[in-house]
Amino acid sequence: MTSTAELLSLGDDTAIPGVRVIRGEKPGPTVGLMGMLHGNEPAGVGLWQFAEVLGRPTRGEIHLIVGHPEAVAAAPGGVRYIRDDLNRLFLDDNELRTKGVDFDGPDYRRMLELKPALAALDVLVDIHTTSQPSEPFVIGYTAQREAHRLSRALPYAQVDGLHQFIHGSATQWLLDRDNAAVTVEVGAHLSPEAPARAFEIAGRILAEMDMLPEDRFPEFRKRSKPGRRVVVGHHVPKVAPDFRYVRHFQNFDPLEPGEIIGEDGERTYRAPMIDNPVIFMPSAEATLRNDTNTDAFFFGVEVAPAIEDDHLAQTA
Ligand SMILES: [Zn+2]
Repeated sequence: MTSTAELLSLGDDTAIPGVRVIRGEKPGPTVGLMGMLHGNEPAGVGLWQFAEVLGRPTRGEIHLIVGHPEAVAAAPGGVRYIRDDLNRLFLDDNELRTKGVDFDGPDYRRMLELKPALAALDVLVDIHTTSQPSEPFVIGYTAQREAHRLSRALPYAQVDGLHQFIHGSATQWLLDRDNAAVTVEVGAHLSPEAPARAFEIAGRILAEMDMLPEDRFPEFRKRSKPGRRVVVGHHVPKVAPDFRYVRHFQNFDPLEPGEIIGEDGERTYRAPMIDNPVIFMPSAEATLRNDTNTDAFFFGVEVAPAIEDDHLAQTA
C-alpha cells in the first residue's frame, strides 16, 4: 500500500503549499478535491487514493488540496485548527474582527493562501468527518444549480439549511460567488469506512464531470438513488453544564413532535412541533460540557424525496 506521504506528493507542485495538480489529456473543467481542512480529519486521503488509481483524467485538471497542512502536522493525528477554526474564517475582515480572530495567526494566513486556489476551481469537493458516529451526508446547497446536481449524484443523505447557522465555511464562500462546491461528511473522524467513501465521492464527481476514461469505473457511473432529505431549521448552540439527554440519540434519529430531548437546570429541550422532526448532529454529553462547543445539537425535518429522485428510482 502506498504511504500517505507518497499519496500526498501525487501530481505537480503549484505556488500554493499543499496544492498539487494532475493535468488531463485534453482541456476541461478544474475540479478541486480537498481533505484535511480540519487537521484531525484524515479520511480525505481517500481522494488521493482515487487520484492514484485513476492516473490522469481524460480532460481538465484535478487539484489535490491539503486544506490545513499546519494543523495536520501540529500533533500526532492532527488538530482541528491551531487557534481559529479555518472553516469559519471565509468571511470579511470586519466580521472576523468582531469574533476576535487572530489576523497574524496560522489559520487566518492559511485562509488567505487558500482563497486564490479555491477561486480557480470550477468545482470543489470538500471532505469532512464528524466527532460522533454518523451515516455519511452531503451538505447540500439547493440554491446553486451545479452544486445541487453534483450532490444528487452521491448516494448519501442530503442536508439543507445548515448555512443559516454555520458561517464562514470554504464551500459557502465559493457558493456565494456562484461557484459549485460540495461538502460531504463521510462518517466519524477515525471510521474505517470513511476513506473509502471519500474515494467513491471522488469517482462519482469526476464521472459526473466526464473526466474518467469511458472503459473504467462503471460502478461510479451508475446512478444511485440519493438518500433521505433533511432540512435543518433549528439550532441549539449551548446548554447548561448539567444537561442530560433523556436517552441516547444518533444523528438523524426520528423524533415525535414535541418529544423531550434532554434537560438542564434551566430548561427542557423539546423537538419542534412539526411533522417528521429529526435530531441533527447531537453532540456527546462530554463534548456538550466543553466550553468551545457552540453546536450542542440541531433539529431538522425530513422531507419527501425530490421529484428527480423518484424518477431515478424508477429508471434505476
Ligand atoms: Zn471538518
